[in-house]
Amino acid sequence: MTDTLFAKIIRREIPADIVYEDDAVLAFRDINPQAPMHVLFVPKTPIATLNDLGEADAPTVGRLVLAAANYAKAQGVADDGYRVVMNCNRNGGQTVFHLHLHLLAGRAMHWPPG
Ligand code: 5GP
Repeated sequence: MTDTLFAKIIRREIPADIVYEDDAVLAFRDINPQAPMHVLFVPKTPIATLNDLGEADAPTVGRLVLAAANYAKAQGVADDGYRVVMNCNRNGGQTVFHLHLHLLAGRAMHWPPG
């Protein structure tokens, strides 16, 4: 895959407001937040889209989801609730082609999504 903005953030080549990191996951605040809390969880392994996942990536995706849920609990927003979103390709609204999970919290979400 081609180098992406998020790969540059992982390598600390461009700045980001990093809120969480472990061996597999980096999380940082979205530059254009859509809720009072809007954090992006990205795997350190570069995977372009959900379509590119293979069986071997299942632990990576699990780590992303678990990191987001644990972060929500640690930040005190878990009981009120939150939303996680993974956009895929054009119709999903994906703009950065390095897999990422959006964690949105701090306000009531609407359904259906836009
Ligand atoms: P997507 O639309 O691909 O699901 O989400 C990409 C997200 O990356 C968007 O919510 C957008 O605001 C965010 N974003 C784009 N450029 C930057 C940046 O330079 N820094 C940060 N922290 N977020 C960015």
